[in-house]
Amino acid sequence: MLKYLTPNAYYENLAIIDPAQLVTLGIEGLIFDLDNTITTWNNLEVEKDTLEWFTRLHQAGIKACILSNNSMPRIKPVADMLGIYFVEKAKKPFLSGYKRALAVMGTNTQNTIMIGDQLFTDIWGAKRLGMKGILVKPISLEREFMGTRFNRFWERRIMKAVHKRIPKEL
Ligand SMILES: [Mg+2]
Repeated sequence: MLKYLTPNAYYENLAIIDPAQLVTLGIEGLIFDLDNTITTWNNLEVEKDTLEWFTRLHQAGIKACILSNNSMPRIKPVADMLGIYFVEKAKKPFLSGYKRALAVMGTNTQNTIMIGDQLFTDIWGAKRLGMKGILVKPISLEREFMGTRFNRFWERRIMKAVHKRIPKEL
């Protein structure tokens, strides 16, 4: 169980991840959670740093797809702004959404990494499918969906157990 909840790396924010390094690791696609990974919860605005980072990602030739349990009106404006694919109503951590995202990008579990801020949805699903998962620190915990707040409570406890198991490098 812990094996599937342990991310392959943990970063304070997206901008720390180096797209050029991902290319050297053979990565061709990234799947992204939306809320609290790319923007704050239910917010359509993307921070300037994040926009610039996605430009670097495009320049590195890495494809990207948002995978969100939310629906199109929430996701599409952000995906369009960033120029990336999206899969709505993903039902994470069920695996069907991840498979749809891989199909949309034409990538596979070996050359694609999931990036998200939640262990029980983003990371758990990715690891069960045999994909790497990068955990990022949530952008802001001030406002969140109630179900997410419940998950956070357990996440903090699991993080204590998995923290020392997270590799230093991808
Ligand atoms: Mg999230």
